[in-house]
Amino acid sequence: MRTDTPTAPRRSRFLGRFISGLLAWCAKAALFTLPVLLLAVPSPAQSGAIVSASCPCGYQRERMFLFGGLTNFRTVCRFPALCRTARTIVLGNLLDPAAGAGDCPASDMAFYNDPSLAPEHPGPVVVSWNLPDGRGVAALFEGGYVCPVCGQRTLTFRHDGFWE
Ligand SMILES: [Zn+2]
Repeated sequence: MRTDTPTAPRRSRFLGRFISGLLAWCAKAALFTLPVLLLAVPSPAQSGAIVSASCPCGYQRERMFLFGGLTNFRTVCRFPALCRTARTIVLGNLLDPAAGAGDCPASDMAFYNDPSLAPEHPGPVVVSWNLPDGRGVAALFEGGYVCPVCGQRTLTFRHDGFWE
């Protein structure tokens, strides 16, 4: 009398061998493609940073796309600025400060690397960016910035990721 019981373990053994073979193939493929990918990426390209700001008073500005991209880093460095009339953070171009921001005229703006807004005793660097042509480094530190709403030096910046 025949039963079908032996087929089940045989099938699962085959499946197991198939999966482990697949995994080994994937590992080998990754081993070969990874160095190629690393070589293909132009070295030391900078990636723009995504930064959020918040203050204990309740003010917050989420996910600002800072600095530049691969195609525009020579002319554009987006950096947070205080818009005095709107009492909020806007993004201006550090490499063209006279342009102002779409939502704030340049005359009302002060960039957050200005000593009047920056922390008196800077803590750890949150994000930094090398400006082109040896024009220095644009950096944001963790806390102690002037808040656009309450005016206290209690505004902090947080790094939320990268963009290109
Ligand atoms: Zn505040």
